Amino acid sequence: MRIDVLTIFPDMVADFADRSLLGRARRNGVLEVRVHDLRAATDDPHRSVDDTPFGGGAGMVLKPDPIFATVETVDPPRPLLLLGPGGRTLDQGYARELSALDGFSLLCGRYEGVDERVRAHLVDGEISIGDYVLAGGEVAAMVILEAVGRLVPGVMGNDTSADDESFSDGLLEYPQYTKPAEFRGWTVPEVLRSGDHGRVDRWRRAQALRRTVAARPDLIEARGALTPDDLRVLDEFPANPGPDDGPGGGAGGARGGPGDGRGDGPEVGPIGA
Ligand code: SAH
Repeated sequence: MRIDVLTIFPDMVADFADRSLLGRARRNGVLEVRVHDLRAATDDPHRSVDDTPFGGGAGMVLKPDPIFATVETVDPPRPLLLLGPGGRTLDQGYARELSALDGFSLLCGRYEGVDERVRAHLVDGEISIGDYVLAGGEVAAMVILEAVGRLVPGVMGNDTSADDESFSDGLLEYPQYTKPAEFRGWTVPEVLRSGDHGRVDRWRRAQALRRTVAARPDLIEARGALTPDDLRVLDEFPANPGPDDGPGGGAGGARGGPGDGRGDGPEVGPIGA
């Protein structure tokens, strides 16, 4: 998979893409990220990439010529997506779609945005990371690089680790614990230490359901009613705090808060009703 990023701040994006998961994937040849400097395509002495808006108004607008010239020179993989608050909003499903492509490219705007002719005649679409306005597309491009990059086969150390995390099944992820088994009096749920993998799976499923019902009921609604299996695991692991709950046992609130293996987590509404 190849992802190209076109920006006036190439160092910002290149540095990010060199580190951690993405950096390792690049070095292993699983993911190719190419960052292009829009200023390299300017020919005036000031290497200016922006100018004042026709019709007046505050701020500056990215000029069309350096953007068109960069695209024509480097021929970045299509679709070429302009970053902007008006685009299709990134979510896990969209990230998955992008991760299945051979490649795509991201064009970062700055200032008041880009000349409309770029949107109308150069790019293939527009992508947003949410309903708020950033000062530039670079941070959004990094969000997309990371969300998509980690779904590309071979990028994560363990290829299956994307399968059961938040949103993969329309649910938030179950709570995770590591050592020590007891920390400041809060114990790891007994079920996770039981070695009974079937029971662990059912407990995790129950926790994921409870968490999602409490924090994101819209996700439950979107995937339809709870299934008979869902109701069965919820029944097996009721929400009442168990006897070996530590002092943190009731601290779940809307964010979820597992305590012990016999049932815990936030008291959530009429689940399965
Ligand atoms: N004047 C524009 C906002 C420009 S913000 C408007 O009102 O719509 C400058 C640049 O930041 C944009 O060109 C875009 O590339 C980037 N940007 C801002 N918000 C974004 C978002 N929510 N998602 C993706 N990119 C965004």
